[in-house]
Amino acid sequence: MMNRSPFVLLVTDLLGRTGTHRDETIVGAVEIELDLDKVDETHPVTVQVRLEALADEILARGNVAYSAEVECNRCLTGWIETGEAIFTQLYSKEPDEDTQPISRDGHIDLEPAIHDEVSLALPLVPLCKKDCLGLCPTCGTDLNTAPCSGHADESDSRFSALRQFLEP
Ligand SMILES: [Zn+2]
Ligand SMILES: [Zn+2]
Repeated sequence: MMNRSPFVLLVTDLLGRTGTHRDETIVGAVEIELDLDKVDETHPVTVQVRLEALADEILARGNVAYSAEVECNRCLTGWIETGEAIFTQLYSKEPDEDTQPISRDGHIDLEPAIHDEVSLALPLVPLCKKDCLGLCPTCGTDLNTAPCSGHADESDSRFSALRQFLEP
């Protein structure tokens, strides 16, 4: 399970020492790709986390600051969107569906929690502005920058052959 990810942390100093804690700041790359959002090594995330020792478990609570490459759902303009997500994850030597494992040699991995929370924080339907006019479905003109002159003579459109083909 364990690799050289910067989000894999050794917690042997906390194990069995209930009530103690440690703070960490980690900068590292995660890979998240949704339809119109992308976070990758080009924009490393910054994670601030507090690790708290419970009886047999470690509680990780923190926030992650990210920058995502985002594309407008209507006009396909791209931009960088920054944001923060909060995560809470419990780690146990005997993990169940709510907890992540503490490895035998005392490591935990923050990445699954970071991945989940940043994925949820990213916009599902990004818009460059609320009233983005999008692209003309016929000619592809960006209607935010230039009004489309219309397509009265659709038979001349370079898409008309395709349309006839698709529409019986
Ligand atoms: Zn747009
Ligand atoms: Zn048009």
